[in-house]
Amino acid sequence: MAQGTGTEIKTVGVIGAGQMGNGIAHVCALAGLEVRLNDVSEDKIKEGLATIGGNMARQVAKGTITGADRKAALDRIRPALSYEAFGDCDIVIEAATENEAVKRKIFDALHPVLRPEVMIASNTSSISITRLAAATDRPEKFIGIHFMNPVPVMELVELIRGIATGDPTFESAKAFIAKLGKTASVAEDFPAFIVNRILLPMINEAIYVLYEGVGSVDSIDTSMRLGAHHPMGPLQLADFIGLDTCLSVMQVLHEGLADSKYRPCPLLVKYVEAGWLGRKTKRGFYDYRGEHPVPTR
Ligand code: NAD
Repeated sequence: MAQGTGTEIKTVGVIGAGQMGNGIAHVCALAGLEVRLNDVSEDKIKEGLATIGGNMARQVAKGTITGADRKAALDRIRPALSYEAFGDCDIVIEAATENEAVKRKIFDALHPVLRPEVMIASNTSSISITRLAAATDRPEKFIGIHFMNPVPVMELVELIRGIATGDPTFESAKAFIAKLGKTASVAEDFPAFIVNRILLPMINEAIYVLYEGVGSVDSIDTSMRLGAHHPMGPLQLADFIGLDTCLSVMQVLHEGLADSKYRPCPLLVKYVEAGWLGRKTKRGFYDYRGEHPVPTR
């Protein structure tokens, strides 16, 4: 089917085999789509494939998929060291490092190998979709498809139209998300979209509450878990997301919306300066080096 009558997506190119890219490849392959998975080196692609294999094995152990489903899905993912392998893709999803120059370089290299009707999506969390679209040869076929982390677990995908994104592209992207079994929410192209725009200021506020001595790490997290029924306290969640990521989203909001209410908390900046980035560095608002997490303040 041609774009405009709702392109049926059968083959998906994924650029970046990191945390998000391997998750996207995972859910596409399980949904029966052919996948081409690219990264900067063979080793990176192998790492991504190993993560997918391991995560799918956990799903088998839980009984959510069968061993045969896992094998068939893994067989549908083909490593793609060069963009030539994207020639038969119906959509390419860019999930490379969050750096605009890196993404622009990828699009430049991608244009010559893609058929003109193929749409390009970016999984960026913070870069303007309109600006990225303008750096491609097909702004009307460019869209933001923002998956949540961890991709195989989270039900939501934010869909972001740039100014030039055409209706057929939007409709195809919506159908693609439905095919993955995910729910789409539509967000305008403003900094941090919807989920992060609401979530990160709440986390930042929790850090201010700690900074001002209103409560301890334990009292803040306990309050929000038991008093607001959040499954995780905000500081525990911040450690899970990564404090560097939290800071960068607050900076994007602060700069992009020019409102002092988004000012990153100085204590968050200090933790990042210390290299205490949360779970991934074993220290953040909690210390994870022992058997149980211990609050660091
Ligand atoms: P990551 O660091 O885990 O993975 C990025 C991957 O991109 C790495 O494997 C890196 O080698 C690869 N890469 C870098 N340059 C490349 C190039 N030129 N060609 C191909 N691959 C290249 O990062 P991530 O967390 O997976 O984030 C990827 C994207 O997803 C970013 O745009 C980020 O904003 C977005 N995102 C992240 C999250 C999250 O929670 N981590 C959530 C939603 C969206």
